[in-house]
Amino acid sequence: MSDPILPDVQIKLVKPTDPVLGRVVSNDLCMNGKSASFVKHTVFDVSGTPLAGNFSAGQSFGVVAPGLDDRGKPHKVRLYSVACPSWGEDGEGNVISTTPKRLIDEYVPQSGGDDPSRHHLFLGVCSNYLCDLQVGEEVRLTGPNGKRFLLPADPNAHDYLFLATGTGIAPFRGMLLELLENPAGACESQIHLVMGSPYTTDLLYHDLLLRLSGQHQNFHYHTAISREDASDGAGRYVDGLLNEGMDTFGPLLDSSRTLIYLCGLDGMRVGLYRTLTAHGLDAGYITIDPALGTRSPDDWGTADMRRGVKPTGRCFIEVY
Ligand code: FAD
Ligand code: NAP
Repeated sequence: MSDPILPDVQIKLVKPTDPVLGRVVSNDLCMNGKSASFVKHTVFDVSGTPLAGNFSAGQSFGVVAPGLDDRGKPHKVRLYSVACPSWGEDGEGNVISTTPKRLIDEYVPQSGGDDPSRHHLFLGVCSNYLCDLQVGEEVRLTGPNGKRFLLPADPNAHDYLFLATGTGIAPFRGMLLELLENPAGACESQIHLVMGSPYTTDLLYHDLLLRLSGQHQNFHYHTAISREDASDGAGRYVDGLLNEGMDTFGPLLDSSRTLIYLCGLDGMRVGLYRTLTAHGLDAGYITIDPALGTRSPDDWGTADMRRGVKPTGRCFIEVY
């Protein structure tokens, strides 16, 4: 099968130089119980702005946090994935959502000139601003952004493998709702989601995903928990779960109908490319530079992959 046809989508209707105001509708935690991290499902009313009705699942939008940065300049826009289907949280396209995670860490040197002994608390500007927001507050928004990380124009023409780590689930929440709860009829294709989290308590939108898998026999929800022992005493990464589950994932990946979507940590891409190659399933999803092809995939590093492995039209990657 040839590459999927992607829909035309609107981009950059609202520029960072002239953001519009969205109003917070709700801002609730979306982890699976008591977790050490804080991730919110943040919902904005954008009615009356150019964003209303003009975003698609898989796109992102910008947030301009108030205040000035270290250099006295207004904060730069940060992007957040749309976590709802294209008809929004309200069914009318007036209410959009995203999945911000508080960036909380100890300061680590960012360049050669930084003092290595500094280790004060580091708080990300925009993620903490978003997670702090109260219902009714106004937020400066831009976008939409992105015209490739999208569902195909004809969803039933394909099967799907979605791979996420952490907040990388955000675009897949929107895509899964778009596929499975479409008022025009549910997609009947095979849909697999593999979600990677450190602990079971870090699984995001877990109840929703369980509900969808219970209600739709064609949707299969798999979890790869990295820091909890499985029966063999070891945790799992997303690619490890794929490797072990080749009885299921092999035929899916071997089908020319299948599209792969990956969102989250850059490292996950390395594991996917290695897994595809090791099982002879790479054709159709990636092209490999001949120089890299002479070496074992186990020896490929992140930089090698960036240079030497390119996703095809059937493989959608969004990492950072
Ligand atoms: P900042 O204040 O910008 O700080 C982060 C920067 O500080 C990093 O770039 C790094 O250089 C530096 N830094 C990081 N840790 C440390 C440390 N320990 N010590 C010193 N310096 C450090 N995020 C989400 O949570 N949910 C989403 O759905 C989401 N979707 C995205 C979609 C796209 C297309 C992209 C590109 C990004 C997305 N992000 C998402 C990430 C988001 O844009 C922000 O980068 C993230 O929230 C951190 O922003 P911040 O303002 O809180 O941190
Ligand atoms: P998290 O909850 O910490 O989960 C990340 C999981 O991935 C952990 O289980 C981690 O395991 C595992 N992991 C680490 N290295 C891996 C590798 N090489 N291969 C596979 N799995 C690996 O995640 P998070 O804090 O939300 O971060 C998720 C990432 O997604 C961030 O980088 C975020 O910026 C990005 N993101 C991107 C987009 C986008 O581009 N649209 C949208 C949203 C989020 P251990 O920690 O136990 O090693």
